[in-house]
Amino acid sequence: MVRGTNKGGWMTTRAIVWFRRDLRLNDNPAWASASEMADRVTALYVLDPTLLRAAGEFRRTQLIAHLHGLDDSLRQYGGRLMVRHGKAEVIVPEVAATCGATLVSANADVTPYARHRDSAIKDLLGPGFQRWWGNLVHPPGAVLTAKGRTSRVFTPFAAKWNRLPLPTWPENAPVAVDNDTGEGLPTLESGPFQEGGEEAAADRLLAFSRRADHYGETREFPALDSTSVLSADLRFGTLAPRTLVATIGTTTGGRAAFVRQLVWRDWYAHLLWELPSLANSSIRTELDRIRWENDAADIAAWKEGRTGYPFIDAGMRQLARTGWMHNRVRMAVASFLVKDLLVDWRVGEKWFRRLLVDADIAQNAGNWQWVAGTGPDAVPYFRVFNPVLQSEKFDPDGVYIRAFVPELAGIRAPWIHKPWTAPVWELAAGGVTLGTTYPHPIIDHRFARSRTVNAYAEATRVTND
Ligand SMILES: Cc1cc2nc3c(=O)[nH]c(=O)nc-3n(C[C@H](O)[C@H](O)[C@H](O)COP(=O)(O)OP(=O)(O)OC[C@H]3O[C@@H](n4cnc5c(N)ncnc54)[C@H](O)[C@@H]3O)c2cc1C
Repeated sequence: MVRGTNKGGWMTTRAIVWFRRDLRLNDNPAWASASEMADRVTALYVLDPTLLRAAGEFRRTQLIAHLHGLDDSLRQYGGRLMVRHGKAEVIVPEVAATCGATLVSANADVTPYARHRDSAIKDLLGPGFQRWWGNLVHPPGAVLTAKGRTSRVFTPFAAKWNRLPLPTWPENAPVAVDNDTGEGLPTLESGPFQEGGEEAAADRLLAFSRRADHYGETREFPALDSTSVLSADLRFGTLAPRTLVATIGTTTGGRAAFVRQLVWRDWYAHLLWELPSLANSSIRTELDRIRWENDAADIAAWKEGRTGYPFIDAGMRQLARTGWMHNRVRMAVASFLVKDLLVDWRVGEKWFRRLLVDADIAQNAGNWQWVAGTGPDAVPYFRVFNPVLQSEKFDPDGVYIRAFVPELAGIRAPWIHKPWTAPVWELAAGGVTLGTTYPHPIIDHRFARSRTVNAYAEATRVTND
């Protein structure tokens, strides 16, 4: 591949911007650097059948909506998005050869699949394949301990992260964009979770920034809808995390609490970079000796939201219905699966990965390992969330439960959190017959807690022997 000079030079430079998880033109270093370097750009998206198969319906629909949005953004430059189907290892070099591109610019990703794919392409294209880190605030390797690795404890990582200035990268320059749409955009067959495209994402950020001051005290309550719901925008890259930090800032406690969540996001990404097996193996390897129950009927009840614990069922039904779930509820349902039902965390990780519109291997596996107590800086295994206390604390009036478990709509707090303790007249007045209209709890929490603590203790003991 011939390397071109930049715009001031004598050679016309053609570049490909290969969009992956950065479906935006604003604050996108891969796009900005290509627009600065090249006279003409091909904006390419490769629909990889392996990735499409892995994505559930929510993520596929949201992806298509964002591709349409990206195409709209590119029309402002007089061009279109080229969509090609197949393996990137074949298509990217082929498009580069056809259009005579001397530069392929992309944003790097931390997943093992993406790294493997990108290293194959690097082998083929050499220095003409340039990567940026526009989808994290700080790239892997920027926040290391004195021993040169990513801290396994979050607080020192966050302290170091906070001291770093925001990264800088090139600004967008005017550039011509090709009109070839390749195999064309897939049609949108159902409504996406959120309106597609970076403009809609920017509106969501703006709307959140007006209420960000209250994030700290309201974020734990799923019924309040007080979090940003920007996770899918970060997942698809319709927003850059750098933009979020710059827009929200840390001037109030609520804003600082929000930015801290983005530190968690970077942390899990850095950990996956360093530990590519994060999604498959427990970081605390001795805990891979746990003798899981993995009961098929329990797993089905959890997935379908009929465990008999209303807060858990509300969360699982929200996930199945919308493709998204509030963080507090994600923690509660994950803990219920692993620690009440004694099911291997990987079963839950896979289910989430399929259904979540924001599914992201680093965030998903990192959080599952955190909840399961198998990961870095995780909840100690003997700390088992009580699904009823979680419900009473974070959904005190049962508003969230009623939104997703309508058969309990007529039951008042406090009984809505544990309908099996409700007086018969409360159940009758609410039209609930336990075991018929709503299930009995599938497990007794106190029994489950001690079973789990024993199973974890035994796994740890085996290693110590
Ligand atoms: C078991 C489990 C699985 C999860 N799987 C995913 C996943 O696949 N993809 C994903 O993006 N998040 C995941 N999370 C993290 C978190 O639940 C979501 O990011 C959050 O609920 C998204 O809502 P929001 O955008 O309104 O968050 P906000 O509260 O507004 O936070 C802003 C952003 O910070 C980041 N963030 C917030 N909480 C976390 C966290 N605990 N870990 C890492 N980053 C965080 C997200 O990018 C989020 O969009 C998971 C959490 C748990 C407990």
